Amino acid sequence: MAVEHVLNYINGHWEHAKSGQQLEVINPASSERLSQVGLSSAEEVDRTVQFAQQAFLEWRNVPAVDRIQFMFKLKNLLEEHFDELAEIITLENGKTFKESQGELRRAIENVEVACGFPILSQGGFNEDIAPGIDEFVIRQPVGVCTIVAPFNFPGMIPFWFLPYALVAGNSVIVKPSERTPLTMHRIFELIEQLDLPEGVINMVHGGPEAVNALLDHPLVRAVSFVGSTPVARHVYARAAQNGKRVQAQGGAKNPIIVLPDAEMETAVRIAADSAFGCAGQRCLAASIAVTVGEARHTFTEAMADAANERVVGFGMDEGVQMGPVISQKSKGRIERLVDKALAEGAHAVVDGRGQKISGYEDGYFIRPTLLDNLNPKGEVAQTEIFGPVLGLIHANTIDEAIAYVNTSSYGNMACLFTGSGASARKFRNEVQAGNVGINIGVAAPMAFFPFSGWKDSFFGTLHGQARHAIEFFTQTKVVIERWPNEWSRQF
Ligand code: NAD
Repeated sequence: MAVEHVLNYINGHWEHAKSGQQLEVINPASSERLSQVGLSSAEEVDRTVQFAQQAFLEWRNVPAVDRIQFMFKLKNLLEEHFDELAEIITLENGKTFKESQGELRRAIENVEVACGFPILSQGGFNEDIAPGIDEFVIRQPVGVCTIVAPFNFPGMIPFWFLPYALVAGNSVIVKPSERTPLTMHRIFELIEQLDLPEGVINMVHGGPEAVNALLDHPLVRAVSFVGSTPVARHVYARAAQNGKRVQAQGGAKNPIIVLPDAEMETAVRIAADSAFGCAGQRCLAASIAVTVGEARHTFTEAMADAANERVVGFGMDEGVQMGPVISQKSKGRIERLVDKALAEGAHAVVDGRGQKISGYEDGYFIRPTLLDNLNPKGEVAQTEIFGPVLGLIHANTIDEAIAYVNTSSYGNMACLFTGSGASARKFRNEVQAGNVGINIGVAAPMAFFPFSGWKDSFFGTLHGQARHAIEFFTQTKVVIERWPNEWSRQF
């Protein structure tokens, strides 16, 4: 299924990266090589941007109602190849087949929402500001847009931006993660079937050199980035320095608070899915649970059972609930952070390190891990782990719990489990996070809401998805026109 070489797609043609530098694409469940990907050079990026700019000048004049027809076709192609694409995600990323299907579903939902561009882009009309004079706003595309994606949702994350950028009349260059490039490669084979004008949509593979070349290129007008906070910060600063509009989503350290009046069985089931689903490699994964008062003992015990019971293995195997983490390096980092947490005073209620999965002995597996008494002031309580590790902290009151949550430098997601509307209301008003869940474990916004994020989890103003994306991918032009009645000709 996997291609031997992952290729760039430039101006409607497939090409090997010319730099000669290659990376292996690995199945993290087995450590077997799936393919290899070339790392594009700054010169290749420049060629791609030049083609994208030429294409933009034509594409912007295609009426929006015609542009969205391509998205209807894309939706159908993605539906037709749904399971095949989900399998590629599982092979290169490690998540379970069901999780891959969930990811793709959200990608398709974004294509569907983008089809509403003609109506979503309306607004700002104010006729008759003076006799014979009208004033109104029109939206126009911005030019060449680039999307830089992380490894953890290779099929979904580019779609927070891509369909909106296209229907708004921009040309696009996608730079997938070099660790999981196969999914977008296959999606681009489907995109080729849309017969879009050449150069309207392009893909370059690579690492920092390719990304920086995009950030520095004068013809790139907009940058949409998703990845870790240090890189998001770098991308935001460098692109802004070069005068581009930027939306840069970063990392997270997501807390959930469990109150004693929560429906405990549901809370544990949902929290376990949040912490251990996608092997904890979700920017919306719960990483810390703050139990309040007597929630502590029931929650801890039930969570330990949930961690122990989770079925870990190769994501395509029946009944598997959690796959491996992305790489040996990532596995080593997570294990070291667990060591550090223990050194900072935590106690491993469930320690998922050092266990082999039968049949997949070379895979990068860590079983679910539960750490009690995580030191709230320690390094691990503030560090994104990006693995299946949940730390427990205990508080006496909801105020104490919210105050702790708000000490985090991140603000991607925060969730509360409670049976009280008043507590829920207090939490949603006071908590410093962009995506808030009440009795929800992964507060992922539907495609018709912005994918929010606060503090060090997001740099910029307009987020991905829906109206925010449409605003990001268009620039406003305010027009004032004078057409007094006396100028009208009598016919
Ligand atoms: P990453 O930051 O390592 O890489 C993301 C992208 O940036 C890749 O395409 C990579 O090639 C590029 N890149 C890496 N280093 C670079 C550099 N020095 N200069 C320029 N470009 C560079 O992230 P990752 O490990 O692929 O993904 C995991 C991270 O993404 C986690 O921190 C996770 O929380 C975050 N994430 C955030 C969201 C969100 O919505 N906030 C969603 C998904 C993932």
